Amino acid sequence: RMARIGFIGLGNMGSGMAANLAAKGHDVAAYDLSAEALARAEAAGCRVAADAAAAVDGAEMVVTMLPAGRFVEQVYADSVFAACPPGALLIDCSTIDVATARRVAAAAEERGLVAVDAPVSGGIAAAQAGTLTFMVGGPDAAYARAEPILSAMGKAVIHAGGNGAGQAAKICNNMILGATMIATCEAFALAERLGLDAQAFYDIASVSSGQSWSMTSYCPVPGVGPASPADRDYQGGFAAALMLKDLRLAMEAARSVGASTPIGEQAERLYARFVEDGAATKDFSGIITTLR
Ligand code: NAD
Repeated sequence: RMARIGFIGLGNMGSGMAANLAAKGHDVAAYDLSAEALARAEAAGCRVAADAAAAVDGAEMVVTMLPAGRFVEQVYADSVFAACPPGALLIDCSTIDVATARRVAAAAEERGLVAVDAPVSGGIAAAQAGTLTFMVGGPDAAYARAEPILSAMGKAVIHAGGNGAGQAAKICNNMILGATMIATCEAFALAERLGLDAQAFYDIASVSSGQSWSMTSYCPVPGVGPASPADRDYQGGFAAALMLKDLRLAMEAARSVGASTPIGEQAERLYARFVEDGAATKDFSGIITTLR
């Protein structure tokens, strides 16, 4: 069944996601602050809305893909809550802090709306190809409504638990990713110093207990392992600034519940330094250059 969807936030990720919904025949009313983003959405088969309220007017579902929690909170408070029909489902796909995700879901419920957090794994290419993974936090009934729409934009949709659980899954996963990438880089740098050939080390560690996604899908050493951003001077891929954003969200969440995350803290520090040194747009595996 085709749905009437309001889509707010048509940036690097949202543009591809909205295009996939339109391509599957959904009626997508799109809004972004950027005129260029709106023109791209129109070319991809979306209807262009004059503002966020117009995008959600009459919508059964609202998808947001915005930079941070404060933007989601603001768009919900300023436009979505007032302009959305009662019972509408709000699906926030942005990566935001767990506390804000829970707060906006509670505020939505007070207004007779239903909200889920549904952050994604996968970058711009996956958003365009419709192969994202969604991790969803919200009540069972809300998840059941969101699942078909998310499936139209992704290859996997997983119900993580109640509101905020999707964001929790995302930041906990990416905390592992940041930590294993640094550990993998460190090990390759040490191997080099010890006169151990990078390919030989890869051949051993990739089938031993040092194996991880950071090593075997995203090897930070050029020419070793499958094709990865290392092979193109760390261009494209997962920007270090976004890894730092996710690590900061993880540390914020850890502080809020008194969790002990010493390796996560160190990863945040190292990525902060990497970004300060001008590598914000480099792939996060490029941190190996600072460890060598
Ligand atoms: P982006 O900055 O490219 O896009 C955000 C868009 O939101 C921009 O086009 C901006 O104009 C728009 N916007 C901001 N405030 C608005 C408002 N009030 N009303 C309407 N539009 C508004 O960011 P992105 O890379 O698309 O990322 C979006 C989210 O997805 C972030 O939370 C990010 O952490 C997460 N994410 C990104 C990636 C990635 O590889 N880029 C991967 C996974 C998750």
